[in-house]
Amino acid sequence: MSEDIEFSDKNEDSSSMTSQEKQMNESDLSKQLDADKSEKKNVEAGNCYCGKDRNLNIIELLCANCNRWFHESCIGYQLGKLVPFLTNYVFLCKNCSPTGLETFKKSQAQTFQMCITAIANLQQSSLKEGTNKTMFSKDKEIIPYLEYHWEALTTTPRRVTTSWHVTVTKALIKDIHILFVFEDHPDDGHMYGLINSDLTHIKPNYEAMIKGGTLKVTDMGIQHGKIHYV
Ligand SMILES: [Zn+2]
Ligand SMILES: [Zn+2]
Repeated sequence: MSEDIEFSDKNEDSSSMTSQEKQMNESDLSKQLDADKSEKKNVEAGNCYCGKDRNLNIIELLCANCNRWFHESCIGYQLGKLVPFLTNYVFLCKNCSPTGLETFKKSQAQTFQMCITAIANLQQSSLKEGTNKTMFSKDKEIIPYLEYHWEALTTTPRRVTTSWHVTVTKALIKDIHILFVFEDHPDDGHMYGLINSDLTHIKPNYEAMIKGGTLKVTDMGIQHGKIHYV
């Protein structure tokens, strides 16, 4: 692929251009633009190499370039330990990677990101079990989830003391009404849920990474800038 990979959704993903489109003459230009619009919609609706729908019960990664979701089972790259609903990674699918090989990099997660991932997984598990819970106990469910899945959630080394429990509490409280909803339950204590309980929206904030200079995609591939977390 010789073209620069760009992120604006106005830019055509070159892999989605068919040879037929390329052969169209100028008189067809306006028709082609209309056709592109509708085709682009269809292309965007498709996910993964397999074309199948999203599956929230398995790990899926969002490509930073084509904005399609890819199932872990369809990805060739050795991803290592992950859980569904991570947001602290950069992934490029084979179609978008200039080398034709997937690239994947997980980074340190901020505490609020780990909390979102934990609550999302608890919610999805509850849905699978048929209990349909959206609020979870900080002490009985969220913290144990983080404890159990630490290495899958972040590249930050596991903490030796439990002082991070306080950090989690602070992160949850700080973003009540922004990311989280809170409820004081008589038996289960402090309960938290996601303000947007639609789990399909949980994804890396690639736009912010590009704006913040932590992510650059050029025709040489993805370049990871230095990522600073507090
Ligand atoms: Zn797939
Ligand atoms: Zn892609």
